[in-house]
Amino acid sequence: MSTRRKLVVGNWKMHGSHAANAELLQGILAGGPTNADLAVCVPFPYLSEVAVTLATSAVAWGSQDVSAQEQGAYTGEVSATMLREFGCRYAIVGHSERRAYHGESDQAVADKAKAALGKGITPIVCVGETLAQREAGETEAVVKRQLSAVIHALGHCVGEMVVAYEPVWAIGTGKVATPEQAQAVHALLRAQLRAATPQADTMKILYGGSMKPDNAPTLLSQPDIDGGLIGGAALKAADFLAIARAA
Ligand code: PEP
Repeated sequence: MSTRRKLVVGNWKMHGSHAANAELLQGILAGGPTNADLAVCVPFPYLSEVAVTLATSAVAWGSQDVSAQEQGAYTGEVSATMLREFGCRYAIVGHSERRAYHGESDQAVADKAKAALGKGITPIVCVGETLAQREAGETEAVVKRQLSAVIHALGHCVGEMVVAYEPVWAIGTGKVATPEQAQAVHALLRAQLRAATPQADTMKILYGGSMKPDNAPTLLSQPDIDGGLIGGAALKAADFLAIARAA
């Protein structure tokens, strides 16, 4: 077991309402402290209320995206400076849904990570291969290429990001990577980070993709898996807490 403190992050995606959010957060807060650090990445309009609800708690919050631009005529974009005003600790960048549905390139993702870090927000940089890429034996090349763009953009600040390995075929599908499959990719990513920064061994690499209370203990006991980025199971307080307790 590594000595890195585990981090469990809920990605609410485009789910929620005032009422549902309040219930979910109260449920999480009622669970009391866990050994892992916890965070929720919520839709932009809810940042304000989530910030109020979590202000005095140990649970951090963040966004699911951030603009690479500082300010200006970028309709629909939200800057890192704005996110800071709402107390965001984290911003997910490069989620596979954004890469797939919004055409975000490796360079765009790297620019977003840099913009976040520049304003003191920790980017949670998602990398992962599709099923076709895995079956073609391209997993290593794909995740290395995705991470390499961000390493290059962040320069000496590389050690400050969080990386999330999210095999696209495992997201929201119920098909989870085996602990061995996930650990193998995490080890590759760690090796790539080691070549870029002396901080690689203190950096967190999260696993995401159908992590649930039943599969979390074995995934989270792998040496290079430092926590989880949780989609579906993060919408139920009991499941999110069970994963956090497994961490
Ligand atoms: C995600 O969207 O980051 C994710 C991991 O989703 P799920 O847990 O639902 O597979």
